[in-house]
Amino acid sequence: MLPFKLIYSDGYHLPLGEHVFPAEKYQLIHEQLLRSTVAASDDFLTPEPARDADILLAHTSAWVNKLRSGTISPREELMLEVPYSAELVRAFWLAAGGSILAAQCSLRDRVGISIGGGFHHAFADHGEGFCMINDIAVAIRKLQHEGSIARAMTVDCDVHQGNGTAAIFAAANGSAAFSFGGMGARDFAGFEGDVFTISLHQENNYPAFKPPSSIDVNLADGVGDGEYLGQLDRVLFTGLYQFDPRLLCYVGGADPYREDQLGGLSLTIEGLKKRDELVFRTAKARGIPVMVTLAGGYAQQVEDTVTIHCNTVLAAKEIYGS
Ligand SMILES: [Zn+2]
Repeated sequence: MLPFKLIYSDGYHLPLGEHVFPAEKYQLIHEQLLRSTVAASDDFLTPEPARDADILLAHTSAWVNKLRSGTISPREELMLEVPYSAELVRAFWLAAGGSILAAQCSLRDRVGISIGGGFHHAFADHGEGFCMINDIAVAIRKLQHEGSIARAMTVDCDVHQGNGTAAIFAAANGSAAFSFGGMGARDFAGFEGDVFTISLHQENNYPAFKPPSSIDVNLADGVGDGEYLGQLDRVLFTGLYQFDPRLLCYVGGADPYREDQLGGLSLTIEGLKKRDELVFRTAKARGIPVMVTLAGGYAQQVEDTVTIHCNTVLAAKEIYGS
């Protein structure tokens, strides 16, 4: 039995029809984890959908009402880049509930992994880039609201910048934000917010406009394992030097993979597992609970996306099981 819980529901499936987003990946990951015996059936918990009151901790009532009543505009649906349906709304509410549960489990078990979520392109008042509801922001605000944590850090390693997450927390944090791509030493002003956002992403990629995270690492096209892992190590050190979170929300996108259709970095499957290990090792050494969500992954072969996400669970098992 794993020393932590995996959060999963068949309801995570996103009803998208023909779409570049492999909505079947969640079910495939669940099956592969069981088949490979990385996990057993009693390692999984089934989430409940988030309550509207929880969603409203990170989203405007106008946006929630539009989604609930099916009154989003054609332009808003265009920005979402996924076809609106009541079933899709349910799937996003469930993803948010799953991320809340994963975060709650992580406080007890040191790590909690949702086999879903990571919809980091959703803003407080609109959705973008396949993301309707920002489950990461909902989970953080929920745990803060119930008094479980005061401060959280997001470490977003999807190949695309976490614009929605950055914007939601920048609005609450004021203007303390930094953006850098080089290796030069920086002076950091005191950070006074309660959520510190880190995004490590390909600069020449969606979203075109990147609202500043607390720290953005803008990577050049084609960056591979060695440079990526060095930058991640550096940014974790830098972030944790100036901010002491009680929860780390790791957004483990599979799309920095070199064969991703929507990514332009060159990480290998082995390099991506080392990335996961680095995040887990760092958090474990400092006693910071880690909540994991999966985010994107658009490999030419869906099996590769599934393997990369399963390896995140394997990495946690190896690091937290010993
Ligand atoms: Zn992505």
